[in-house]
Amino acid sequence: MFALLQWAIIGGGIQGLTVATYLLKKNKTTINQLKIVDPNPKPLENWKRCTSVISMPYLRSPSVHHLDTEPFSLQSFSKIEHKYQPSTDFYGRYKRPSLHMFNDHCDHLINELEIEHSYVASTVRNIQKSDGGWNVHLQNGEVLEAEKVVIAIGISDQLHLPEWATKLKQANPNALYHVFDKKLPVFEKMSAPFVVVGGGITATHLTIKLASMFPGEVTMIKRHPFRVHDFDSNPEWLGPKKRLPFVKIKDYEKRRHAIKSARHKGSIPSDLRNRLSHLVRTDKLLIKDGIVKDYQIHPSDVQLLLDTGESIKARSIIMATGFEQNLPGRDWLEPVIKQENLPCAKCGYPIVNHMLEWAPNLYVSGALAELEVGPIARNISGARVAANIISSI
Ligand SMILES: Cc1cc2nc3c(=O)[nH]c(=O)nc-3n(C[C@H](O)[C@H](O)[C@H](O)COP(=O)(O)OP(=O)(O)OC[C@H]3O[C@@H](n4cnc5c(N)ncnc54)[C@H](O)[C@@H]3O)c2cc1C
Repeated sequence: MFALLQWAIIGGGIQGLTVATYLLKKNKTTINQLKIVDPNPKPLENWKRCTSVISMPYLRSPSVHHLDTEPFSLQSFSKIEHKYQPSTDFYGRYKRPSLHMFNDHCDHLINELEIEHSYVASTVRNIQKSDGGWNVHLQNGEVLEAEKVVIAIGISDQLHLPEWATKLKQANPNALYHVFDKKLPVFEKMSAPFVVVGGGITATHLTIKLASMFPGEVTMIKRHPFRVHDFDSNPEWLGPKKRLPFVKIKDYEKRRHAIKSARHKGSIPSDLRNRLSHLVRTDKLLIKDGIVKDYQIHPSDVQLLLDTGESIKARSIIMATGFEQNLPGRDWLEPVIKQENLPCAKCGYPIVNHMLEWAPNLYVSGALAELEVGPIARNISGARVAANIISSI
């Protein structure tokens, strides 16, 4: 057992690190009084893996959305470090940052705050109320005791596959992968032709990448016409205009409904739409609208049968079909919910107070905070909102 800590943060992704940064920079704790628990060897591993596999050149969010407390921190960082170019490292009118500059800024913060001293590479299996706060039980058998705990786990560990894809994967494991599957081989080792299933931003980045690696051998299959929006929800959700009426809603089913209808699910910004159109015009890419209804496995390829009557041949199928939307961390959180009598809405997600407190001294951020933070909760902007609230305790 460690000495009593002030804070334990469960999850060392975008959300967990933003909370840690705010707590440290606002002098709410010190690095010796804080632990961040995450199974990956280093912080932000999920984020870096998911964004690098699709070679996302720029973030979708503007440059003021990052992990640091000061909104212009990333822009100041870009000027101090002379290796960045305003013309190529910021994109468009919202100054969307390049992924490599954003990641450098994250690494800079991690070094500056000496996060490695507080980082514990393990998985949390249980938390229990104790006299001094909470006991956090780790997979490796250790128990951390902390006055306050933040659960900042995301949904990116729960990959969504439609039923037909799950069956096909069972029958022919090497023919189909979810794009964020940790076992996805490098694309150079996979066989063309490729089919990308999905019509959102991940599918789009992936398709652009594959069409440049395998021109003329990539088909994108999507269920709906492109939904073009700059952001995945209206930017008014960042401020009180949308958020105040939202938090006044007493019925959590209505809040869930408000979140669903506010999200531009499966949408892409116009610049990416234009890049896809260009790839189609230059015969590097085929795009099909349709729903996969069935498949046939042949010795050298798989035929995907669409509801339009068309059939598409593939040797490698990459699913960009997002994440399961149900409660993240269900396997260990559901027993905790029962054991500690934690309130949840019908959708299974936490009901928390305006300080994002689920039980005394137990806080949530990210997906778990969405019934309080709203549709931006899972994004970097939502991480900033949650971190600001939690660090003002
Ligand atoms: C490809 C992609 C691009 C995106 N681009 C943007 C963008 O441009 N702008 C934006 O605002 N948002 C973007 N998002 C959305 C969002 O910001 C990211 O998904 C972000 O990584 C979410 O942060 P997170 O901390 O919730 O999840 P993660 O980064 O996945 O981190 C959660 C961490 O919790 C850990 N964990 C889970 N269970 C446990 C446990 N029991 N014990 C300990 N640790 C645990 C996980 O291993 C993981 O490391 C993007 C998402 C994706 C997938």
